[in-house]
Amino acid sequence: MRKVALVFVLAVFGPSLALAWLAWRSLSNQQLAFERQQTLLYQGTCAGYVKDVSEFLGTRQKEFARHVELLLATRDPQDVAGRLDDELLKTWPMAEVGFAVSLDGHVLAPPLLARPEARRFRLENDLFLSNQESVEVYWTGTKGIQPSGQAEFSNENPPDDSASTSKETRATPSKTPEKSRKVIPEKDGAMDAKLVSKLSSGEAEFRQLIGDANEGIIARFLQNRLKLLLWYRSPGHPEMVFGAQLKLVELVKGLRNLIQAGSALHNEICVALLDENGRPVAQSHRDFAADWKHPFVSVEVGEALPHWEVAAYLVNPAKLRESEQAIARTLGSLVLLLLLAIGLGGWRIVTDLKRQLTLARQKTDFVSNVSHELKTPLTSIRMFSELLAEGRITDEEKRRTFLHIITAEVARLTRLINNVLDFARMERGEQQYNFQPCDLTALVRESVAAFRPHLEANGFTLSCEVGAQPCFVSGDRDALAQVLVNLLSNAEKYSAEKKEIAVSIAAPNGQPASVEVRVTDHGLGVPRGSEEKIFEQFYRAHDSLNSGIQGSGLGLTLARQIARAHGGDALYEPRPGGGSIFVLRLHRP
Ligand code: ADP
Repeated sequence: MRKVALVFVLAVFGPSLALAWLAWRSLSNQQLAFERQQTLLYQGTCAGYVKDVSEFLGTRQKEFARHVELLLATRDPQDVAGRLDDELLKTWPMAEVGFAVSLDGHVLAPPLLARPEARRFRLENDLFLSNQESVEVYWTGTKGIQPSGQAEFSNENPPDDSASTSKETRATPSKTPEKSRKVIPEKDGAMDAKLVSKLSSGEAEFRQLIGDANEGIIARFLQNRLKLLLWYRSPGHPEMVFGAQLKLVELVKGLRNLIQAGSALHNEICVALLDENGRPVAQSHRDFAADWKHPFVSVEVGEALPHWEVAAYLVNPAKLRESEQAIARTLGSLVLLLLLAIGLGGWRIVTDLKRQLTLARQKTDFVSNVSHELKTPLTSIRMFSELLAEGRITDEEKRRTFLHIITAEVARLTRLINNVLDFARMERGEQQYNFQPCDLTALVRESVAAFRPHLEANGFTLSCEVGAQPCFVSGDRDALAQVLVNLLSNAEKYSAEKKEIAVSIAAPNGQPASVEVRVTDHGLGVPRGSEEKIFEQFYRAHDSLNSGIQGSGLGLTLARQIARAHGGDALYEPRPGGGSIFVLRLHRP
């Protein structure tokens, strides 16, 4: 048994538990994977918006170039330069100030004595535009910017024409320290612990920045306010650079339309465009409010709008947690189910194994018990018949006693063989009963009468309270007689000093349709816990070794099976004051 259990633990239980453990581990991985999947999805959405913003700026750039080309078509460049500010103000709402610079650093427009915005522009930008001052500019990546003429492309915005805003910014090669972002996304932080800005900054003069390119955007911060300068060089007049400082309010208006258009994930996330201070300038959900500096994920817009970010906020943060929990719950239940199945299967196998082993042991005991039960009466039959055959026993009383013993032993043998044969028939499902009206009173009286001489010869007193009234049941007479003989024989076998047996017939309380034959003894009684087991095949509550009482463990099994085949039952009750009461319960027709 121990060996089998060990094999079971090593071959089935251990590996199953290991599998369950692995499944449990994959459960937490699943949660992480789900979170990561969501993060990537939302990051993708933000990146899509970043591309849209870049395209929007690119379109503005093209618009500006078109305006300049239109002016150059009818006028000479000097004239266009002088009137650019006025013209733009009239025709292009996006422009705040129009400017023009010659390549050698002469600021040609706007005129110094023009409107206040233009004057302020000159004050703020003259030194820069005339290459006398370097200003801080931004670019994406960490490699630094090549000197003028060679474009450096951003990692985020591939160099396609529509998004050309990203490719023109240049600065002197310089290594600037990495700057950390003002906006701290929950999930990016977890995935990429650095949280530094992808933007690098450095100082450069205007001439250096434009190099040999035709157009571009320069972003500067003046007194912490963002200024965006678009510039354009016409291929026909490369010695002149025309430019416009964009009206940020108009720009934001355009971007707001872009963001408000919403995305496929509108129900899940609110997308916001955050300025350099982490404040929302546009958002997809009008009344949505959040801790703007801590979005779920965010992506930097890039060098055209330095430190601006497109950020995503969960509309319903509890929903994500709920989804995670739902996944955890489903997988957890599966793992639990697996464990339960393993446990239940294991328990079933072990109990079945135990049952099989007990049965095997009982069968072995049965064989040795039956052999012994056959041998004992055979020995006495042989011994007494030999004595009688020799003719040396002359005393008539003795001869009668010997013959009684032989008869009793033959009856015992017959009982045993009948029990074994009947049991074998029942096991094969071949047992058949001949049901007929049968007077139970007469049957009991006859069985008692047949057993009485044997019992009384062995010092028993046997009382039989059956009354004179016949009590008819439908049954197989021989089978019912076998039950009574088995019960009487057991009462004899398991009686101790007090050799008293009583047989009675009565209707049980409150059940007039039933009738009970009760066989009562004053013997050993059935040990507690074995009251039901004694009806199982081969089971013996008093084994031969300890009690010295021989038996096959089949008598009560047969009694119950016969009783149940008659629609009744065979039952045990302890007798108050010691001993047993075995009951054969049957139904009247
Ligand atoms: P056996 O051949 O062992 O008597 P049975 O099936 O007739 O087989 O009985 C099963 C067990 O029930 C017996 O081994 C014994 O332990 C218990 N038993 C049966 N009858 C009695 C009784 N009258 N008193 C006490 N124990 C009994």
